[in-house]
This record gives sequence, structure tokens and C-alpha cells, in this order.
Amino acid sequence: MRSFFVRLAACVAVLGPLACSDAESTPQVEAQPNTPFGPASGAQTMDTGLQSPPAAPPDTSGNNPPSDTRTGTTPSEGQPTPVLNTPPPPPAMNTAEMPMPDPDGNQTPPPDPDGNQTPPPVAGPLVPPSTLPPFGPGAVPQPAGAVGNFRVLSWAGFKAAISFTFDDTNSSQIQRYQDLNSLGVPFTFYLITAANHVQDLQSPVWPQALRDGHEIGNHTANHMNTGSPNLAGDTDTGQATLERMFGIKVYTMAAPFGAQDYINIASSRYLINRGTPGGTIAANDNTNPFNLPCFIPNTNAPVGDFNARVDAVRAAGTWQTELVHGFNGAVHNDGAFQPVDIGVFQQAVRYAKSFGDVWIDTIAKVGAYWRAQKTVSTLTPTMANGSSTWTWTLPAHFPPGQYLRVTVSGGTLRQGDATVPWDAHGYYEIALDRGSVTLSP
Ligand SMILES: [Zn+2]
Repeated sequence: MRSFFVRLAACVAVLGPLACSDAESTPQVEAQPNTPFGPASGAQTMDTGLQSPPAAPPDTSGNNPPSDTRTGTTPSEGQPTPVLNTPPPPPAMNTAEMPMPDPDGNQTPPPDPDGNQTPPPVAGPLVPPSTLPPFGPGAVPQPAGAVGNFRVLSWAGFKAAISFTFDDTNSSQIQRYQDLNSLGVPFTFYLITAANHVQDLQSPVWPQALRDGHEIGNHTANHMNTGSPNLAGDTDTGQATLERMFGIKVYTMAAPFGAQDYINIASSRYLINRGTPGGTIAANDNTNPFNLPCFIPNTNAPVGDFNARVDAVRAAGTWQTELVHGFNGAVHNDGAFQPVDIGVFQQAVRYAKSFGDVWIDTIAKVGAYWRAQKTVSTLTPTMANGSSTWTWTLPAHFPPGQYLRVTVSGGTLRQGDATVPWDAHGYYEIALDRGSVTLSP
């Protein structure tokens, strides 16, 4: 608490009392709600996934639904993880345990809190193990055909992706945290750090959320709109506070009010800025990663409004981000913008999970995959002695320890001196930290 009051004092000293007052006490108007993709009627009917989906991108069409509907869940569910060659997932990617690439591009292995060494998934320099959720039928034989046809699977092989985000450090999110966490999927919480939010910011829920595998991202210190001075500085203040308070590295932000001014600010600081335009994201498309679209449900939106988004992304093979500000019944006077019913939200998440083929994960996790796929998919390999090598430079502010799932028609994949093991779910996982992969006969 002492550090909070030091910060509060500093905030008042630097910005003046008005800047530290409760700018959030009035309802926010971040963006107009989107028109749902499709009619809500019928959307609540459970789709078993047996209907033939409309044309999905080629990258996803080859993937079969998993036999285990638990795929895509997090270790917070306490379920065994049915994945091969992958140690138990570590905590959220933005916890302090995850290393940052150094300026030379070398990777530092993550320190083990117990002092034990976790075997790397492949030989060679230690890189963090993949934390992608398993997907696929299992017992898929390793491709043994002609060497070639290297391609990256969209959305880690899942049919589609959804990221649920929560903005504004709202007390109703804290109140409902256990209800949210019990859903067993990772969420992204975009926190405001200014003094008027410190009561909620100090909640033990946020460190717990990190331990449970959720992402904490930056929603700036004072949640200022277009026209306010020093939006960049306020963004940096929020980031510094989060990183100091929680011992994390923050990789993504959400623009207050979805203001366009934050696009340039985010582009030099973050992997992703989730904005508020409506829409979805396709693999390898030209969506601006610094103004990522989202779906904002109306106040007390019925579950059909949420479910229609799930149906749409499963049909199109795309990624939907969703923005919920909070739930009815805030604990104190910080009522959420367009609150929804927690029970309805839980139904919505369970509907998305029910198919088993939707990747539900944080903005940082899905966003890193999306950006890396686009980077790697556009490369032209160099050829030598019958081998093809793809060499990449990852986007700036890219989290360490990320992987892409790829397939080939045949041949051996290597990264450095290490052979990439075949995953019997139906893919190879290549470590992005390694910077290249070679396909050889
Ligand atoms: Zn906000």
C-alpha cells in the first residue's frame, strides 16, 4: 500500500489533482456497438460441428475436430494435458518468468523457480516449451511423402479463434473473477492504473489472474481521449505501473475509447493494440495490429448475440476479439460501461468451448501467432543442397517462447542442429525464437 500512496502522491504532484480524479465515474462511451454478424435467432441452437462449414481458409481446412473437448483449456482447470512432447504449460506468457530476447537476438532460458532444469522440447539452445493448447485427433502418422509443401496452420490448427477482453479495471470483474476463471479459458484484462482506480488495481485478484494464466495488458494510466495532452506519456505510465506492480512484461494494450491517436503510440511500443472498430481478423490479412477490431456487446446482451460471433468465426475461419467492460452489480461506484449478465457471459464462453475447435486465448497469445504466421508465410526460402531454409525476423515487441504449427508433405524439419519432432496431433511446432527452420530430404 505504501508504494501506492507514493505513486498517488507522485501522480498528484506531476499531473495535478484533476488529472488524478475519477475520470471514470461518468459512463464511458468507447464505441458504438457493432451490428451482429448474423441473426441472433437460431444462434443459440447448439451446433455440434457436424454441419459442413462454409469455406474456411486452406490453412485450417485440413484440421479435424478434436476428440477431446478439453483441448484449448488452460491448466487452471486442473485437467491433464493430453499433449505430446510438451511439458506442462507455464504461467501466462507475460509473467516475470518469461525471458525477453536480448538485443543481440539471443535467448536466455527462463529461470525455474524451483531451480530445476526443464528439458527443452528439442536439443540445442534452450528455448521455452510451447504453450499452445493441443489440438487434433492424435495418432496422426508423420508425413512421409515428397519433400515440400511447407505451410503454417492458421490459429494453431484450430478452426477459429476468440479472445475475450475486459477493460477498465472494473470492480464487477473482480467480484466475478472466480466465475470467470472457472470457465477454464485464458482472458485478457486491460487495466487502468491511475489513482482513481487504485482500489481495484490493488486487488489480489490480478496477481491471481496471472498465476491462473490470464494476460494483463495496458489500458493506460488515466484513460484519456483524443485531444488530451501527452497520451504517449500516459500510456507509458500505465505500462510502467503494471510492470512494476506485477513483475510482468506487458505486450499488448487497448486504446481508451478506441481513440485513433493510440495507433501510432502503440506501433512503437506493443505487439498489439486492441481498438474498437467492428470486425474480425483473418489469417494473413491486412488488419492493422495496432487498431485490432472487436465486438462490444450491448448492455445486457442476450447470449445469442455472443453465440452469433462464435458461429461466424467458425464459418469463416477467423479471429474475433470481444470487449466486455464488466457485469451488473458493481461493488462500488464504478459501474461498467454496457454491463452484461455474468450468467449470460458464462453461457457464451461455454458455447464457444463446446465445439472444441475454437482457440480461446489471450490477445498476446493469439496475436503473436497471427503476426508470426503472416511473417513466416510471406518468406521465400533459400535453397541449398536440396534443403529449403526459411529465416525470419519477428515483429517488434514480440513475446518470447512462441511457436507456429506447420505441416509438410514430407522431409525432415530442423532448427539449428535440432530435429523438430513430429506431434502426432498432426503438426510440427517450430520455435519462433530460433529464427529459422530448414526442410531437408
Ligand atoms: Zn476503457
